[in-house]
Amino acid sequence: MSTFSGVGVSPGRVIGPVLQMPGAVSEPPAGEKWVESTVDAETARLKSGAKNVQGELRSRAALVSGDAKAVLEATALMAADPMLLKSANTLIVAGTSAERAIWEAGIQVADMLKGLGGYMAERTQDVLDVRSRIVAELLGLPAPGIPASDRPFILAAEDLAPADTATLDPDQIIALITSSGGPQSHTAILARALGLPAVVAAVGVDRIEDGTELFVDGAAGTILSEPGDMERTAAATWTEQSKSLATYTGQCTTADGHRVPLLANVGSGADARKAAAAGAEGVGLLRTEFCFLDRDTEPTIAEQAAAYREVFDVFPTGKVVLRTLDAGADKPLPFLTDSTEPNPALGVRGYRTETTSPGVLGRQLEAVAEAARDASAEVWVMAPMVATADEARQFAHLCSAAGLTTPGVMVEVPSAALTAESVLKQVSFASLGTNDLTQYAMAADRQLGALANLNDPWQPAVLHLVKLTVDGAAAAGAEKSVGVCGEAAADPAFAVVLVGLGVDTLSMSARALAAVAAVLSSVTLAEAQDLARQALAAPNALDARGSVRAGLPILETLGL
Ligand code: PEP
Ligand code: MG
Repeated sequence: MSTFSGVGVSPGRVIGPVLQMPGAVSEPPAGEKWVESTVDAETARLKSGAKNVQGELRSRAALVSGDAKAVLEATALMAADPMLLKSANTLIVAGTSAERAIWEAGIQVADMLKGLGGYMAERTQDVLDVRSRIVAELLGLPAPGIPASDRPFILAAEDLAPADTATLDPDQIIALITSSGGPQSHTAILARALGLPAVVAAVGVDRIEDGTELFVDGAAGTILSEPGDMERTAAATWTEQSKSLATYTGQCTTADGHRVPLLANVGSGADARKAAAAGAEGVGLLRTEFCFLDRDTEPTIAEQAAAYREVFDVFPTGKVVLRTLDAGADKPLPFLTDSTEPNPALGVRGYRTETTSPGVLGRQLEAVAEAARDASAEVWVMAPMVATADEARQFAHLCSAAGLTTPGVMVEVPSAALTAESVLKQVSFASLGTNDLTQYAMAADRQLGALANLNDPWQPAVLHLVKLTVDGAAAAGAEKSVGVCGEAAADPAFAVVLVGLGVDTLSMSARALAAVAAVLSSVTLAEAQDLARQALAAPNALDARGSVRAGLPILETLGL
């Protein structure tokens, strides 16, 4: 029996076989020639490789539905694209090996599609994906991307990139385990959004043999091979309990009736609809950059207004907190960010792009105002990565010029938390972004599994920054609301601490709403305040988490 331990980032207990995510295909050496072959043999090799890839993609498409099916069918078509194969054959005639020829042809076709813009440009990634698949096939390597299986499995990887997840089917994958990645990494965010148990930073799991049966405990952060009776009972109990958690319908309160509005983090109208169905009272974070991640050019005001309006209309009587474009670091937008910056997480990102690309923010606010004009949702607007009271004042001024009456800021840079009173005097509300607040307070990259212990919102420094923000907001005026929209709000035990510290609203992945509501409803406000005091007094993150969890027996009962 082997055990692996990492950081549990999404609760749940499951048993199933593991499949490894194949590594990226490396580029065949430039100038590689075919030897001991002929033009005919090399072109035939390429043709049969492409055909096999197409067949494989078609059979995978037949197994799935919805977006995943569409993505796989489009990629299958691309594998037989005459232009792609013709460009590769021309290179083979000139002596280039089939692997190198298809690699270069892929780049040529991708560049051409990019030049055409619009829908064609969006196919660029499909061409590059298919050419990597053909190279893998020619070299006898496993195909890149999510592996296919006819039975549900646990996906193991070093880490998952957003692009890897396009075809991730939550009916097929029952848990995610990675050897790298921190609690705020894409894998963690995605797992919570899909409601999949997940453990990150578990060293060695990317080397477990395919097919090995594993027990994954996403709350405890442990993975075990050869599960026994105890683990089988735990997995069966979790399946039952997760069904009972699916009944949340909104209006969260503590045991003594203190209201805690639970809102959702969304990146599109489709996300918003799912959030409403899961009981969200509104949106606490609309990540507008997610609407335009595939764009090379600034979206027009009309395009933006349409995307925002789709979200506003899902909550006609609720609140929607829209965040202006947070481009940079792991979310580059070619029309706003400089990809050559040496240290993008500390670079011109979020609100700072107003200095390098003036006007984009103003046009975005115009689009928000247009979308909000006859929508009935209560629209609040906030800026990401605000570091000073001056920036908060300038943002409030821009909002007011656009006719938007409720400006706010994300508090995710420690300087904003430390000067919360003066920052909050400039705006109506703050939303704590604990993902970035943690990475900046601890100087620990949120994507790095090796730093997961530092990159932990339970760290005393982060808890104190949250408290400073709440206290600063209270000192700035009674009407200043403070919410939390970082991933930490989705951890039910941390949510209790946040409420105990005086946070007004919590925003999270829709999937986390029911569990957070269930745990909050098990404590009174005074109990939450007491647990918050214990967390603040703890000497380290482990003790803070441990003592709060010990005070919340419902977590064990619900398997959270
Ligand atoms: C955060 O930093 O906590 C946050 C919510 O923003 P993002 O994860 O989009 O950076
Ligand atoms: Mg952030």
